[in-house]
This record gives sequence, C-alpha cells and structure tokens, in this order.
Amino acid sequence: MSTPERVDPVQFARLGESVQGRVKAGELQRLAEVSRNPEANVGYELRGYLRKDEKPAIDLAVSGVLTVTCQRCLGEVEIDLHSERTLVFLPAAGLAQVQDEDDDVDYLPREEGVAPLDLVEEEILLALPMAPRHPPGGCEAPAGTQDSGPELH
Ligand SMILES: [Zn+2]
Repeated sequence: MSTPERVDPVQFARLGESVQGRVKAGELQRLAEVSRNPEANVGYELRGYLRKDEKPAIDLAVSGVLTVTCQRCLGEVEIDLHSERTLVFLPAAGLAQVQDEDDDVDYLPREEGVAPLDLVEEEILLALPMAPRHPPGGCEAPAGTQDSGPELH
C-alpha cells in the first residue's frame, strides 16, 4: 500500500499494519534545508504492533545516503544513514510518568493522526550528525577560517 498522509497510530499498531517506501530529501521541508542533494533517496519502513504491555508501538527504520555540508571545509560530505527507533504511543497523561531508559525508544502522545512522513523526517534529522565532517585529515578548512587550529574549549 502507498504511504497514507496520516494514520491513526493506535489503529496502525493494533492492526499490525506496515508501510514502506522511498522519499526524496527535497520533498521533506526541514531535510531539504540541510541536504545538498534534493534527489537523494531515503528508504523507510514503519511497522505497527502491540507490545507485550499492550501499548501501541511503531518500529521505524530509515536508510539512505544523504549529501550534507562538511562543517570544516564547507564541501559536500556523504552520510550513510541507517537508523531504527521504536515509537510508543501513550495518552498524554501517561507521558509524564515514563522513565525513558532506552535511547532507541521514544514516547509520543497518542494523537488521532500522525503523518508517517513527519516521523520519517524526524528520524532522519535525529540520525544526522549535528556537525557533519569528512573523516579527520580528509579535508582542510578553507584559508582564513577559524577551524584550522586546535579547538579551544
Ligand atoms: Zn570536509
């Protein structure tokens, strides 16, 4: 099935539905701002299920190669992206009591509709490094910039 614009996460989980597809970086608004290649393809998959504790959950996976700006040389650097996360949907009142111990699990408020592509975009942005760079020694800062010397803390 093609990816619906919005899904009810509780129904999606209860029915064990799944969607997968590919999206171009340029089609996601926030991602388009950091991606230097709007044609870059990211594959995604969302799989709904009920956890053992009966809470509705969606396993989300994204993978692809994105081209972003190296923060040292300001050239293009490719980031090989593979990320997975479990999203658990709780009534808003229950969120405050959650002890978030697992980095790969996110708790979200139960809403009637969430946009799968919003979840995908969020995951891609979380998976990207805050300050992408070529590997050490792989590039140099352009002459006249501050980044060439040792970093001061
Ligand atoms: Zn670089």
